[in-house]
Amino acid sequence: MVYRSWAEINLSNLEENLKNIHSFTKKDIFAVIKADAYGHGAIEIGRFLDKQKDVKYLCVATAQEGKDLRESKVKKPILVLGGILKEELELFNRYNLTPVISDFTHLELLKHLKPQKIHLKFDTGMHRLGFYYEDMPKILRYTKGIQIEGVMSHFPCADTNPNLTKNQIKNFREIINQLKNLTKQSFRYVHLQNTAGLIYQCDFCNSVRVGLGLYGTKPFEDFPIPIKQVMTVRAKIIASKSVKKGSSISYTGSFTAKKDMKIAVISFGYADGLPRSLSNKGYFLIRGNKAKIIGNITMDMTIVDISDISNINVGDEVLISGENLRFEILAKLADTIPYEIMCNISNRVFRKFLRKKKDETAVNFGSR
Ligand SMILES: *Cc1c(COP(=O)(O)O)cnc(C)c1O
Repeated sequence: MVYRSWAEINLSNLEENLKNIHSFTKKDIFAVIKADAYGHGAIEIGRFLDKQKDVKYLCVATAQEGKDLRESKVKKPILVLGGILKEELELFNRYNLTPVISDFTHLELLKHLKPQKIHLKFDTGMHRLGFYYEDMPKILRYTKGIQIEGVMSHFPCADTNPNLTKNQIKNFREIINQLKNLTKQSFRYVHLQNTAGLIYQCDFCNSVRVGLGLYGTKPFEDFPIPIKQVMTVRAKIIASKSVKKGSSISYTGSFTAKKDMKIAVISFGYADGLPRSLSNKGYFLIRGNKAKIIGNITMDMTIVDISDISNINVGDEVLISGENLRFEILAKLADTIPYEIMCNISNRVFRKFLRKKKDETAVNFGSR
């Protein structure tokens, strides 16, 4: 395998983030590994988290994602956040997947579900998935004889809107109390918080669903839990040269050299997942030096200014993102969120899974 760009996935950082999150929240962890574990590789990440005792559940978005994990020998319970469609029933039954039930069409399917175990989702303010409080009597007609193993809700604005968030917590507490009264069941898992929501008190919840934080990305600047970015993205320089003052650079000529310059061409473009909106805005690091992106990012390549960096050679490595140039920074410059950037790191970027803490060159490599 020869590659020009790769993403090192540091499993030791993942383990440490998990430990720090667990000791902060002291609740059971539902590890969210949907969307190929936010671009990190769901199979490898799923297998790794399968062995972590604080992780009680793995969360995916679709039944197909759950099946892929089971076929890779993942044993822990798997929660399918995106609910259940009729045509997926067989997958749920065969691969022992737990559905999040949030719609009356889901309730209709329960009679066909084999391990009759569900998590019920309530809408407390996101207005995407979830039942309303008032739906409760109708829900209970469908769930007789079914184990409601979990009850959940979700925050849309835990990082930006404390009033809405606190209101949701209050409403969800009421829902839980009411549901306990009506069903005479207690629920093994009650979960509401995502990564950003971890800063809120939810004493009646016993578990949390975390994605972003596990991967070492902070939902806001002064996030109180120490975490390290798990993914480090690198690419190689494939050419370098001088350009004269007045030269316009790359497609559409969106950059014109104001002086004679030295440039390098990096083997990383929007097809590798670099947001094209970073054209003329973002930067990479070359041996710790900022190399600004100039001109439009192209499909396979990006041009950077290396006028002030000496000793640059074709074949040298460039840091696209890592602990020293976090996804948060790229996202801000690209006017998006870090989730989108990490999910979009494409398949052409080879995933290397690193285990050891100190000597990261002597490692077990795996690929996805
Ligand atoms: C993706 C997702 C999460 C994880 O959110 P993070 O912000 O990544 O921690 C939690 N709950 C639900 C329902 C989700 O869809």
